[in-house]
Amino acid sequence: MKIIVTGGAGFIGSALIRFLIKNTNHNVMNIDKLTYAGNPESLFTINADDRYIFIKMDICDPQIEQLIFNYQPNIIFHLAAESHVDRSIEDPSVFLQTNILGTYNLLEACRKYYSTIKATENSFFRFHHISTDEVYGDLHSSDDLFTEATAYNPSSPYSASKASSDHLVRAWHRTYNLPIVITNCSNNYGPYQFPEKLIPLVVLKALKGDSLPIYGDGKQIRDWLYVDDHVEALYKVAVNGEIGETYNIGGHNEFENIEVVHEICRILDARAPKYYPHRDLIRHVTDRQGHDLRYAIDASKIEASLGWKPKETFATGLEKTVLWYLANQEWCQRISKADKG
Ligand code: NAD
Repeated sequence: MKIIVTGGAGFIGSALIRFLIKNTNHNVMNIDKLTYAGNPESLFTINADDRYIFIKMDICDPQIEQLIFNYQPNIIFHLAAESHVDRSIEDPSVFLQTNILGTYNLLEACRKYYSTIKATENSFFRFHHISTDEVYGDLHSSDDLFTEATAYNPSSPYSASKASSDHLVRAWHRTYNLPIVITNCSNNYGPYQFPEKLIPLVVLKALKGDSLPIYGDGKQIRDWLYVDDHVEALYKVAVNGEIGETYNIGGHNEFENIEVVHEICRILDARAPKYYPHRDLIRHVTDRQGHDLRYAIDASKIEASLGWKPKETFATGLEKTVLWYLANQEWCQRISKADKG
């Protein structure tokens, strides 16, 4: 098959492309604008493969339609997005532009493309929209879980823009019969994540001996999933998922942010010891505006219908991740420097 990945130079997109090139025979086109979060270096292991092409383009660019007509993809994995909640609170405009209007631009291009191929032999086509559990808002009781039927109630400009894009994708299916699937996933962690997100941020600050900022009391609960488990779920949904359906993806790994930070400090005490315990660096700072309390996914639909289950436990995945950041501090320095211009 021919596969387009948007946002393939980002954290999850690059893991998906590495998986596709390593484990399948498909051809892959990566369309990425290379914002501060995109780094082609994350793809250096597969960059030279002749089944892989990189195109630097904004998903809002109308020329994307011609690109799709020329490449003739069977699957589009749509991951390109602005993805950091704190940045969306500081300046929502680019989130609305990329996440909503960019998705709209892609959907229109796909609608036109699909109308020309649907009656032909090469008619296998899926638009797979990759979204987040944050569209559901937060949970207040300790045993509640987000299911695919949970009502949308987004809290931040980021989650509101992702919720809007989910609605557009469903509407293009209902109105124009575009073959779509949607996945809503919990918090990912793993190698190559931009060092503004909790786990890489804490590892890198702790290594430098800087203070470790924790929003509020740190009791916010997230459900953590190792990025390679997410990627395997994405592939299963794109290939075997039912058209028009949504699948929630989660790791059954609920932890308070403060517990995650304590665990990182424990790993660093063993692997990169200082003369003081790393947890002495923890400092509580003013909580994020509108901070969601708890997210937790019910992943029983994807587990029962597609036989997916995460392979990594939080303990094994976190250890691997911390070791990766320890071994790849130059990657982190280069990507952070590029962000500052
Ligand atoms: P990321 O910020 O690491 O990467 C985003 C990528 O999109 C970057 O390579 C960036 O250059 C590219 N991009 C941004 N704007 C673009 C534009 N206008 N045109 C083309 N490319 C553009 O994000 P991520 O963490 O890899 O997340 C990928 C997707 O998965 C997002 O849609 C996000 O909402 C979703 N998601 C992320 C998580 C998570 O925990 N990271 C969880 C669930 C869902």
